Formats: sequence, structure tokens, C-alpha cells
Amino acid sequence: MRLSRYFLPVLKETPAEAQIVSHRLMLRAGMIKQASAGIYSWLPLGFKVLQKIEQIVHEEQIRAGHHPMLMPTLQSADLWRESGRYDDYGQEMLRIRDRHDRDMLYTPTAEELITDIFRSYVSSYRDLPLTMYQIQWKFRDEIRPRFGVMRGREFYMKDGYNFDLTKEDALHAYNRHLVSYLRTYERMGLQAIPMRADSGPIGGDDTHEFLVLADTGESEVFYDSEITDLKFGDREIDYDDKGQCQAVLEEFTSRYARTDETHDEALFNEIPEERRRVARGIEVGQIFYFGTKYSEPLGATVQGPDGKSVPVHMGSHGIGVSRLLGAIIEASHDDNGIIWPEGVTPFHCGIVNLKQGDSEADAACEALEKALESNGLEPLYDDREERAGGKFATMDLIGLPWRITVGPRGLAKGVVELTSRRTGESEEMSPEAAVARVAEIYEVNR
Ligand code: ATP
Ligand code: MG
Repeated sequence: MRLSRYFLPVLKETPAEAQIVSHRLMLRAGMIKQASAGIYSWLPLGFKVLQKIEQIVHEEQIRAGHHPMLMPTLQSADLWRESGRYDDYGQEMLRIRDRHDRDMLYTPTAEELITDIFRSYVSSYRDLPLTMYQIQWKFRDEIRPRFGVMRGREFYMKDGYNFDLTKEDALHAYNRHLVSYLRTYERMGLQAIPMRADSGPIGGDDTHEFLVLADTGESEVFYDSEITDLKFGDREIDYDDKGQCQAVLEEFTSRYARTDETHDEALFNEIPEERRRVARGIEVGQIFYFGTKYSEPLGATVQGPDGKSVPVHMGSHGIGVSRLLGAIIEASHDDNGIIWPEGVTPFHCGIVNLKQGDSEADAACEALEKALESNGLEPLYDDREERAGGKFATMDLIGLPWRITVGPRGLAKGVVELTSRRTGESEEMSPEAAVARVAEIYEVNR
């Protein structure tokens, strides 16, 4: 992509309305524009990152054996009356009336609709286990939308639902989700810690929230510092293997880690003092097991092996896809701007031409652009007639993890400069070596 042709409305001034760094940087980097309170347009750069995050979520869900599908954002109130949540959900639910005076709503979550789909088609235990998910816009009329996409009213969420014959099977689905979430967040360059939490309006017994530690987080969290040493890494998991999923869950949840809702001071004080941590966190996901809470009132039953009809055991599982952009930036930035982890960066590598219009520099940049593209990478080439300082500032602001700088002085020696956004370290090398290095970095991260 050539920057001169791209739509990147970078702001020079710090927007006054943004209270936290991720919101400020997303506005300054031209990623989003507020349309109304808590509702945003996703400009090309922001949309690109949103899609990268969405893609990782899809890949890891499919890896775990879950089926992607899509449900509508506008739903009839009838099903929600059946479950009792039409009245229970309160003012966060946006209620709409259509021209025939029918009550509709903009979906804040989709337990009712998926349960209706299930009960319409599935009647035998032979069709279980079953987990379906969607990545779809949600609306919650938050009383205080703030912090940009972190607490929006309209937001993009992955929501998944499992249907199982027994509690034991449903708990395996729970464990499987916990494991797949660990892997999902790590691929985005994030450490998200599963913490015992409170179930809120979804209801149920078992629930963990995934929290990214950040000073600007809205939740107060309490944990054993040993937990931050745990890495999921690239271990191979057989998601059908109950024992294996259970073992990973135990590994990642056996140390104390709770949000303020479930915090237990006495238990916390049993941890050696030097390992006790009180911090703040951003909730980027949550998993629930809630048994027959929806299947019973909605009549989602199957015939078991003994011929008896039983309500299915269910759970639901959410990832805050749009919130993740804010969370990643909170966890990865410096004074000059965003620092994207390789897994979610909108472009793999920036190319900065120090002397636009110089035929050799232009030709070298174009050759680099082609070579990177033929390695399956997407570079962003800053081909504008602009001072070097301005080009560097833009690249730093938008946070591409790697930058290749090309100028006549280097070219005379046959070299360009490869710079890491994270460390700021630069190295001179031939253009071919720079391409090979960048390709290798992304190969490892694929
Ligand atoms: P919160 O406690 O932050 O209000 P929640 O527990 O009500 O969130 P869930 O129902 O668990 O949210 O939704 C799944 C995920 O969707 C959350 O973990 C969060 O990452 C994201 N999410 C929830 N509400 C919002 C929002 N208003 N804006 C952006 N993302 C949100
Ligand atoms: Mg939650």
C-alpha cells in the first residue's frame, strides 16, 4: 500500500475528549471516528486491525472444533419473554418497535436465539456435543460509554454456545474454551489471565473472566504473581481430550487470581506476601457454564441413550473483539505511539523513503515493496513528499513493528536500515537481507 493513496487521517493534536492512552492513540492514528456516544466508524487502519483480531479468533475457534455461524442483530422480544430476560435485562437493552407495533431489540447477547435454533432442529443426544459461535455486533446501552472502543454501546463480540448431554461434557466444553482462549490471546501478543469471576445477568455457576493487566483497567484484580510466568506457547492440544484440557485449565487457574467481585481476603492472605498483587485489569473475555438455565424454560431437550427426554447442559463464551484493540494498545505503546504485536499489526512493515523523487531511492523502495509482497507480506510504503521527521513520526504513531528506511547515502553503500519499533534498534543490511529478515520474523509468528 502506498501511503499517498491510503486514507489515514492522522491527527496532530491530542483529542481532548479521550481520557486514556488507547483511545487517544486510536483517534490520533486515524483508526476510528466517533459517530455518536459509544458508537464508532472504523476507518481503514482500525478496520484492518479489527479484521486481524477477528481472523485469529475464527482460526482458534475452528481449531477447537466450534462451528462459525451468524445470527441477526435485531431480534424479536418474544423469545426473550420466554426466558424471562426481556424484563430482567434492564435499561442496557435497546428496545425498538417496528411498524407493526412488534417489540424488537438489538441483541446484547444471543443465548435465547441460539437455544431456539437448537430446539428447532436437534432432538437426539447423537447430535451432541455441539458448539456454535458467531462474531457479530452487539448493542448495550451502557450508562457511561467511555474509553473509546473499550466501553462502547455498539461493540463487536465473539459469542459461542455449547450444547451437551451431561454436566461433565459441558464442563469439558468450558475447559476447552478456556484453553482455546489462552492460545487466542497469546497469538495477539497479550497476556490475558483467567480469573474467577461473577456471572452477572448471564447467570450460572462456573465462570472465568480473562483480564489484561493495565493501569487503566476498570476492574480491580488480586492475584499471585507466579501466574504471570505462565505461557501457553505453541503446545499442541487435542481439544477432544478431556484430560488434557482439564490439565491445562488446572495449570492456569490453580493460583489465586480473582476480580473484586469474588475476591476473598483470607484466601489471598495465604499467598506469601511478596507474591500478592493488587492491580487493575481490562476484561477481554468471559466463559460460563450455566447448566439448564436456558434449555429448561425454552424447552431445549434431547432424547438420551435411555430414551428419556432431558434438557441440555449449556455454556456461553464471549470475546470482546473490538475492545481488544484498546486492550492491546494499553498493553503495548510508548510516548510516540502504538507498538503492534506482530500477530495483529495492520501492515507487516513500513518503508520510509528519505528522498522521495530521487530516482534511485524511489526504485529501491518500489523493489522492496514488491519483494515483501511476493513473500506474502503487506508493506506500507510512505511515498509522500514529506520531511523524514514527519514520516518517522507517522510510522511510530501507527505502530508498525518493523520499518525499512531507504536513503541515497545508504544506497551508495548498498544498504538500507531495518528498525524495530519496540526496541528502537536499527541495523544496516542489504535490501535483500532486510526482506529475508522481515519474512522470517513473520514466518515464526504465523
Ligand atoms: P463488562 O463487565 O465489561 O461490562 P460484561 O461482563 O458485561 O462486560 P460479557 O457479557 O462477558 O460482558 O461480554 C463478553 C465480552 O464482551 C467482555 O468480556 C468484553 O470484553 C466485551 N464487552 C462487554 N461489554 C462491552 C462494551 N460495552 N464495549 C466493548 N466490549 C464489551
Ligand atoms: Mg463479562
